[in-house]
Amino acid sequence: MTPEPVVAISAIEHFVYCPRQCALIHGDGVWSDNAHTVRGTRAHRRVDSGRHRTERGKRVLRGIPLWSESLGLTGRADVVEVKGKEIHPVEYKSGTRHGLAADLQLCAQALCLEEMLNVDVPIGSVWYGGPRRRVEVRFTASLRRKVMSVVVAIRDQLLTGELPVAVNDARCRECQLLHHCLPGVTSVSRRIEKYMSEAVFGCGT
Ligand code: SF4
Repeated sequence: MTPEPVVAISAIEHFVYCPRQCALIHGDGVWSDNAHTVRGTRAHRRVDSGRHRTERGKRVLRGIPLWSESLGLTGRADVVEVKGKEIHPVEYKSGTRHGLAADLQLCAQALCLEEMLNVDVPIGSVWYGGPRRRVEVRFTASLRRKVMSVVVAIRDQLLTGELPVAVNDARCRECQLLHHCLPGVTSVSRRIEKYMSEAVFGCGT
């Protein structure tokens, strides 16, 4: 029996942005940097240092490895703040908020911490470098369900090796894989393939 693939927490953000981007990065191992990823790497230098410290009565732990056996998830928390029994994950983003992507990624980190430490982690924060604002995120039942459904979808994608058709929309201009993916070409070739299947063989793909 093929073992179930372990899902990287970082794949959640990629999948929410574009399922094809997720398949290319996490299934095919394609990677390319653009201005956004370079900025992100720079912004993460401090949190990637792995240096822990005490700030205003809290222990601030950096670069903490995370996993959940029950969900088949693995990754790393930028920062975990610990004050008494309170555990508070913090995710660093160099830009601005884009929908629920960062909230889902942070909630996945909380689910891992809960399983690893056998504690409740009800709330965390995302630091957005664009507006230089820290935004609190509550890990509601609905957000937790969304994380789990995205993880299931990513695992299915990894198991089947499915490469979704290019979205070919505004997301592509900002996408780090634009030059690998060639969304204009792949979406047109997919339409031709579909047309040929319907016209010649009488069936859709
Ligand atoms: S270029 Fe567009 S379709 Fe291709 S991976 Fe990026 S966002 Fe998705």
